[in-house]
Amino acid sequence: MTERLLDLAGIGIGPFNLSLAAHLDGIDGVAARFFDRQRGFDWHPGMMLPGVELQTSFLKDLVTPTNPTSPWSFMAYLVAHKRFYRFLNAEFEATPREEFADYLAWVAQGVPGLRFGVEVREVDFADGAFTVRFAGGERERARNIALGVGLAAHMPDWAKPHLGARCFHSSESAHRLPELEARRIAVVGGGQSGAEIVLHLLTDERFAGCEIVWLSRRANFQPLDDTPFTNELFTPDYVERFHGLAEGRKAAIVAHQKLAGDGISPSTLRALYRRLYSLGRQSRGEGPIAPMPHREVLEAEARNGEFRLVARNGFDGGIDVATVDAVVLATGYGFAVPDCLAPLRHRLAFDEHGYFRIDQDFAVHWDGPRDNRVFALNAGRLSHGIAEPQLSLMAWRSAIIANALLGRAHFDVEMPPPLVRWATGGEPLPSIETLNV
Ligand SMILES: Cc1cc2nc3c(=O)[nH]c(=O)nc-3n(C[C@H](O)[C@H](O)[C@H](O)COP(=O)(O)OP(=O)(O)OC[C@H]3O[C@@H](n4cnc5c(N)ncnc54)[C@H](O)[C@@H]3O)c2cc1C
Repeated sequence: MTERLLDLAGIGIGPFNLSLAAHLDGIDGVAARFFDRQRGFDWHPGMMLPGVELQTSFLKDLVTPTNPTSPWSFMAYLVAHKRFYRFLNAEFEATPREEFADYLAWVAQGVPGLRFGVEVREVDFADGAFTVRFAGGERERARNIALGVGLAAHMPDWAKPHLGARCFHSSESAHRLPELEARRIAVVGGGQSGAEIVLHLLTDERFAGCEIVWLSRRANFQPLDDTPFTNELFTPDYVERFHGLAEGRKAAIVAHQKLAGDGISPSTLRALYRRLYSLGRQSRGEGPIAPMPHREVLEAEARNGEFRLVARNGFDGGIDVATVDAVVLATGYGFAVPDCLAPLRHRLAFDEHGYFRIDQDFAVHWDGPRDNRVFALNAGRLSHGIAEPQLSLMAWRSAIIANALLGRAHFDVEMPPPLVRWATGGEPLPSIETLNV
């Protein structure tokens, strides 16, 4: 029996590869399969705390921006669940994350070619095809790979020796917090996850009376910038121009744009502030909370069942020491080359920061045949910019990858010229002259 040869094997089924699978669904003649180690689709279950909200418009779903007639849109989900009118009438300021996760799971049940409960252990290349090996010993061969394994939880060095039931990453919160026995809890990290966890600790009855220390390296608890010109950074034409920049310019630009993608939703900030206000007013003995921005944790010591966190205050240069029973690390996520790529690693190109070098069409540079590609999703923060880890452009990226795979413009990804003149030159205006330097 001859082994089947797929056009594409997708590793990981988070929203990004799911979006790609939804784009490929219905296109004749494409053999694509996607694999995930989870038993079923589950979107960041460890951070699914009560009341959490999406930071992106529901219109930026898996398909709508590039494939609006697809059956896998958020609208189609609402209609299928007979919630269209009620959803509109609810006038959500932001879509509940639980509902968006339910939408994603619904798509994952309907789109063909997805397999859950299989871990990809190894990817190798020989004789014009990639071989994908699974934990159970099975394998698949494919002409192309779509790497959609997400980002890895970032653990600060000072925390690594202490990881366990009372010192854990935010991605485990929904599983760990219900079991946590602690009177004093430190939350480290001033992004959206840190804020959501602090709000949860301040509202869940289980934690009434606890002392909460909220430490953030950021100079304040800062909002996500969700204003029109900042949102231009999350458009295809900006990403295309960013991709064309010299490599040496990119890291500084990305760092400058941090709050466009990595700030706290204003609704979460308001809810937190109002909770602090009402706790203060009622003084029901709920116990104090110390919001401590501009603190960099330098070291942590575990002694007699307690953690001692030593933090430098960037505001006045002082040192604070917090002694707590538990530490939640809302310290974010970062790019990591997955172990399964070890056999291919030496053939892939990396930049000076250790990120893949990625083409405009999301194919990683490598020394193999041009017709065999490793498409990398959520790996191009430095190649494609800050939109890359966000939901905002996932449909557009899927359409680009699908077109590259098909070798034709199946999806219309042409965009009008940018509204903002990011790049030098462009359409002439009488008052603007571009110098050749
Ligand atoms: C709590 C949270 C909330 C977020 N909310 C928003 C938001 O509101 N708006 C926004 O724009 N962005 C948001 N993001 C950022 C981003 O949209 C999400 O992280 C998104 O899930 C990224 O999708 P992904 O497909 O790259 O990775 P993931 O969702 O992490 O999925 C990766 C999948 O790959 C699988 N996998 C990994 N390795 C293997 C392997 N070897 N074999 C098989 N399977 C494997 C994993 O099991 C997982 O299912 C949020 C992020 C977090 C953490």
